[in-house]
Amino acid sequence: MPAPIRLYCVFILMGLFQPVFAYPTDKSDETRYQKILNDIVELQTGRECFAMENVPFERDSGKFYLKKGRIYPLSPIDDRLRAALFLGDGSFRMRPSLPIEEAELKRLTGQSEFRYNFRVLFLLFNDTTFTQITAHAQLLKAKPLRDKTKDILADVRDYLIHYDTMLDRDIAKVLLDAEENSLFYAHFYNDDRFEPYFFLISPYNEENVSFRRWSESSSHLYRKQAEICRFPVRKPNRENGPYMKVLNYDITTEMPFHSVLSDQLDYKGQTNLTTVMLRPNQCWLYFYLNQEILVDSVLNAAGQKLNFVKDDKFDYMFVDAGRTLDKGDTLRLRFFYHSEDFLNRTVFGWISMRDESTWYPRYGSREKAFFNFTYTYPSKFELVSVGERVSREQTDDMITASWSTPIPIANASFNIGSFKSIEIQEANLPKAVVLKTEKYGLTSRRNTEEEVLDDVINSLRFFTHLLGWPPIHTLYISEAPSRHGLAYPGLIRLSMLTFLFYNPGGFEELFRSHETAHQWWGIGVDYRTYRDKWLAEGFAQFFGLWYVQKALRDNTIYLNTLRQWKETLFQRESLPPLYLGTRIAEGVRPADYQWVIYNKGAWILHMLRNMLIDLQTMDEEIFVAIMRDFYNSYLGKKAGTEDFKAIVERHLKQDMDWFFDQWVYGNEMPVFEYAVHPVKWGDTGYKVYFGVHTKNVSDGFIMPVIIEIELSNGYKARTSRWIKAPLTKFEISLPMEPEEIRFNAFESVLARTEEIDWDSFKEDFLSEQADQNTEQP
Ligand SMILES: [Zn+2]
Repeated sequence: MPAPIRLYCVFILMGLFQPVFAYPTDKSDETRYQKILNDIVELQTGRECFAMENVPFERDSGKFYLKKGRIYPLSPIDDRLRAALFLGDGSFRMRPSLPIEEAELKRLTGQSEFRYNFRVLFLLFNDTTFTQITAHAQLLKAKPLRDKTKDILADVRDYLIHYDTMLDRDIAKVLLDAEENSLFYAHFYNDDRFEPYFFLISPYNEENVSFRRWSESSSHLYRKQAEICRFPVRKPNRENGPYMKVLNYDITTEMPFHSVLSDQLDYKGQTNLTTVMLRPNQCWLYFYLNQEILVDSVLNAAGQKLNFVKDDKFDYMFVDAGRTLDKGDTLRLRFFYHSEDFLNRTVFGWISMRDESTWYPRYGSREKAFFNFTYTYPSKFELVSVGERVSREQTDDMITASWSTPIPIANASFNIGSFKSIEIQEANLPKAVVLKTEKYGLTSRRNTEEEVLDDVINSLRFFTHLLGWPPIHTLYISEAPSRHGLAYPGLIRLSMLTFLFYNPGGFEELFRSHETAHQWWGIGVDYRTYRDKWLAEGFAQFFGLWYVQKALRDNTIYLNTLRQWKETLFQRESLPPLYLGTRIAEGVRPADYQWVIYNKGAWILHMLRNMLIDLQTMDEEIFVAIMRDFYNSYLGKKAGTEDFKAIVERHLKQDMDWFFDQWVYGNEMPVFEYAVHPVKWGDTGYKVYFGVHTKNVSDGFIMPVIIEIELSNGYKARTSRWIKAPLTKFEISLPMEPEEIRFNAFESVLARTEEIDWDSFKEDFLSEQADQNTEQP
């Protein structure tokens, strides 16, 4: 407990500097983090307010207009005025700085420029916003807090402090770093205080401006906000992107039995890391670390203990660097932590990990670094890790193994279990090792490890042949007690479900091959920004499906899978465009993420493949050359959508804006209403008239569509025709009668097709019809 005298001093000091507000007094001993947290919890109006009449102000694209009302300065946060509350009539206008975001705003709100009248506006800022707004305003005496105002501040708090204990990470970081910066946060609503909107400028995001609305979706976790738009500030400044770069992680992990009687594993770790600052004025640094892991201490290079904040409800923590770090400064940190609940041995024998990616204190989720690992675990288990194994020593009942990464990687993980393993080492291929858990009392199908190994080695063979060598020497495929698969450099944690059950229709093959394909797509070639995620997931999904087609020698399964994906894509009234990337998962309908990034992403490559195939020989040389060129040009680097487009354009020697604009940056999907009309032509020939109404898309939407015609002699004629919205008509001459006409064969376009009556096109073909009639018998 702090000494009373200090308490008294604090009280006096605050009283002197901030006479308007009354303060709780026992904060002298707290870290700045807790002080800020408490200040936000206790936000209140004071004895002053300002009359507002026709006051405009703006922050980047957000334009506020305070028509009539009062603005209250709120009690200081960390001794500074950083929050205010406006009650009255006001309005908000905002137009995103990117066309794709403008379209998204329109899709979700019906407005390209968002306009909204509010009655309540809460502001949080780290600059001179308040002085600016009240520069010419009349100072009034404020009445004491009413219950309604208390409710408003309680709501505001709910969005800033999650579960009453942890401050919103992005906002906390900015408030903790003492310097003035562009942080701006507005929370506003009209009559329904339960459905507010949020406008945020956050200096540490890749794209700083975010517009959100209230959401209850469980996918938004604690935040309760769904993002509608995100875009860069109009006037670019130096304030964006990561604030530091971790150069290397040295991670020691001990996993002993909890006790002689228990076969549960404890988890004890130490991470040493070196990080260099990319921006000035850094005081508090945050790291991801799983909520189940308790931090014992954090030390600097001199061995001094640093302040830190780690809550058991959140997967991140803050560390007080103990000094203000300048750009270029290097900091070495040592984290000591433990958990009794991070690893859990299930009754069937699996060892589950609470989370595969937050098992060590890590900065960021995309930044690459070198890793060294030392794992100590009971010798009855086996462990596989990312990287390459450097050593393995057994003493008594424990094994100590070291692994390290020869090249920098972004995501590290491991898997431990009672594994039995099988492996294949083929010439000119990475070695594949499958580790299956020995299960107790659970009958799984036999030899599934061999099926898995088959799919993995065949995928490795297929992809290596198509694209070239992946950036690994060994690929460990380990069974994990999860419903999903996760691919790391040289390591796959593959769902136990694919070891237990078999879903027909190519599902298992696709799943295993998708995870294998990530060694090329996502790991070999990294994606540039969150918007380019489809270059990892969509590509892995397409290559997995391509493998299914080759391995099962079954075009029907390949096409049926695409059809199923198409049906689900068309079930939605509208979908976000692919180029919203991982943000779709943070948006108003998180479930769209899987459909758009994975399945529509795969569809786009499938369409490209169809466009480039030689319809006579079915040769795919151009498509394969593009994929190989893209992979080898960006192996070990980050690639963006425009980089991929440039490679496609280089091979095709033509502009591909139209294709990427329609399918990647846009979200339209066509519906073809078509009619065919074959007529006899000459002695033996036929002419087939086609009419196509393209609906559901803007005029001008264009795609080549493959048409396959089976002739009476069994021969199949294939051709491709450009179909442009809204109406396209054309004809195809044939040497004999057509038996069957397939419009949009091979699912050449992600489109719904519907055959309609020829009569509806009669008008359009009137002149041609007249010609034909003269020749018909
Ligand atoms: Zn994936």
